[in-house]
Amino acid sequence: MELACLDLEGVLIPEIWINFAERTGIDELRATTRDIPDYDVLMKQRLGILKQHKLGLADIQDVISGLSPLPGAKDCLDWLRNHFQVVILSDTFYEFAEPLMRQLGFPTLFCHKLEMNDAGMIVDYHLRQADPKRKAVQAFHGLNFRIIATGDSYNDTTMLGEADAGILFCPPQNVIDEFPQFPVAKSYAELQAEFAKASERDIPAS
Ligand SMILES: [Mg+2]
Repeated sequence: MELACLDLEGVLIPEIWINFAERTGIDELRATTRDIPDYDVLMKQRLGILKQHKLGLADIQDVISGLSPLPGAKDCLDWLRNHFQVVILSDTFYEFAEPLMRQLGFPTLFCHKLEMNDAGMIVDYHLRQADPKRKAVQAFHGLNFRIIATGDSYNDTTMLGEADAGILFCPPQNVIDEFPQFPVAKSYAELQAEFAKASERDIPAS
């Protein structure tokens, strides 16, 4: 039995924080792990900015519900779900992803959780575990699944390495250069072709 493990942001949906910063005009929210490598420092800064602007979860979800999945993402996901069991492994939070997952038909998503107070303000965040994407693939191997995985960035590379086949989807050039062992798909058509090629079964690429 083959399982498709997909990253979410950059594969099926746009980068949530960057788009949220654009929608709200709050420039400081554009910072990513490239600017602030310590994820905890970055998240605490983001939560501080949300508090300062008095943005609660409902306001944030309202903005995020104005975002759409990447063009063609839903069709590609539907194709994958026709041929594989699909699990999305993401470093986002359930509460942020929800409006976009709704548009994708609520595929299975393993990610992290936010903590809210009674007023709906975000007070903290909780990572489910360290290195969660790789750990998930290891666990699925323990359940006798064969894994084909795809993602676009550094935080996906341990998952791609752990999988039986790993595919980079529209990655930045530095990731392509550093991880030449993974094939690169630059469109959903190419991604489907790579999944078809990586499968041990005979499945059509479109
Ligand atoms: Mg990504």
